[in-house]
Amino acid sequence: MDDELTIAAMLRRAERYAPDRPVVSREPDRSVHRTSWGEIAARARRLAAALLGLGLAPGARVATLCWSHRQHLELYFAAPIAGLALHPLNPRLHVDDIAYIATHARDEVLVVDESFLPLYERMRETTPFRQVIVVGTATGDAIGYEDLLAEGDPEWQPGVLDEHTTALVGFTSGTAGRPKGVAVSHRAVAVHSLSSALQGWLGIRDTDVLLPVVPMYHALAWGWPYTAALLGAELVLPGPFLDPESLLELCASERVTLTGGVPTVWMGVLRTLDADPGRYDLSAMRAILSGGSTAPPSMITGYAERHQLDLVHTWGMTELMMGAIAELSADLRHAPAEEQRRHRLKQGRPMPFLEIRARRDDGFVAWDGESPGELEIRGPWVATAYLDSPDASAQQWTEDGWFRTGDIVTIAPGGYVEIVDRAKDVVKSGGEWISTPVLEGALMAHPAVAEAAVIGVSDAKWGERPLAVVAFHPGSSATADELREFIARHVARWWLPERIEIVESVAKTTVGKFDKVALRRTFTAPIGADS
Ligand code: ADP
Repeated sequence: MDDELTIAAMLRRAERYAPDRPVVSREPDRSVHRTSWGEIAARARRLAAALLGLGLAPGARVATLCWSHRQHLELYFAAPIAGLALHPLNPRLHVDDIAYIATHARDEVLVVDESFLPLYERMRETTPFRQVIVVGTATGDAIGYEDLLAEGDPEWQPGVLDEHTTALVGFTSGTAGRPKGVAVSHRAVAVHSLSSALQGWLGIRDTDVLLPVVPMYHALAWGWPYTAALLGAELVLPGPFLDPESLLELCASERVTLTGGVPTVWMGVLRTLDADPGRYDLSAMRAILSGGSTAPPSMITGYAERHQLDLVHTWGMTELMMGAIAELSADLRHAPAEEQRRHRLKQGRPMPFLEIRARRDDGFVAWDGESPGELEIRGPWVATAYLDSPDASAQQWTEDGWFRTGDIVTIAPGGYVEIVDRAKDVVKSGGEWISTPVLEGALMAHPAVAEAAVIGVSDAKWGERPLAVVAFHPGSSATADELREFIARHVARWWLPERIEIVESVAKTTVGKFDKVALRRTFTAPIGADS
């Protein structure tokens, strides 16, 4: 049958087949709220009716400034099943950027956490919304979330929607230039959830307890809220509490089986675990997923060797949510341990239905695990263009319809992708590439090093040279020579950074990646100019 693949069908699945499966959410006062998929679905339908009652036209955009919590989850479903588009805004961006993004996306309604009201106040002049809704106490002309919901018809059911209807709008975190938006259809969400959940990928089933640490305002929380609904898996939402102790507490008390977030989060969690190994019972955890930037090899082995935890590398982008997962294919399951390890350190194989290739100036590169090229990807949940940005779109999509990721990769037989660098971050020294993720990984393997980021700085002789910015663990230190000596065991001599800058903590973006733009701004003095 030609049934539409929609978010309404995914929600119906949760409501009918898994109504009692729990949804757990941390409240602003740290208490834990327990509800179920049945209740979330019923409230989401009612909220959908109430949103339509505001007089919004089909396709109108409902923005959020919210942490990951149960009301945000209800909105993740309510807006799309009403034929509206949900647009989670990143509250950690600069207020001018938030205002720019909301204006660019033509957001009409804003749902805002009470704690973000001061932020909203700073943008209300430049960014007028036709209605503001507060998760918390109503104030001024903003109505309360519960008051709005109470106005909705509890019997309301979604109508049939074309699966190509826009369900969500997401913006890149803008590490290169102004943030760019993409529209995500119902069909994209549905096929992404199906594919990511498959055995051999995330292998999610209804007995799983999922904790997305990646916020609901970044890369749509990798689509996990939808995947959980489709499969009736338990969902745990951390609210504003993203520090290692709070996350570990929640993982232990809720017996979380699968969690996912950016590497800097997992570095902090690993430090906390190392400091007091027996404190948290993580015996239910089957995998911790790390994506968003390169997971340092020493972190992956640290989890495995010291805590018997499986840290799985994944790769994704705002333009496609999750794209690759480093699960081993059948032919590697019986390979020697070292070969398995090498493959587990890569970013992984593209999920089913995604196709990849890598290009360099003279054509596509061989899948030999050595030749680097820019990764191009296509598939049913990859965006087709940036919102209202024909120039940026023409640059990023090829004429034959592939998306150019801006990631420089090698592809090994079987489709294992390894990110060598981001195109905009590569360091080219004397015409040869130096991989910043490899250097960073080598530095972070040093016992004194907590964080390391490498950038390129211009150099009179070599064009560019790597510069490392390093933060030590509290109470630890090493000299630049000791660090160079240490990494020389793993990388070529000519890769060794002449300049190593020691900082308290390496600057990070709003979603927790090392902020190379900020680092370049701080450390731009050319080296070698007078040598
Ligand atoms: P932004 O481009 O603003 O950072 P995204 O959050 O969408 O926005 O980031 C996507 C990019 O993050 C990818 O193109 C890639 O460069 C990087 N990335 C994602 N996952 C990984 C990973 N596992 N290893 C290395 N880089 C990654």
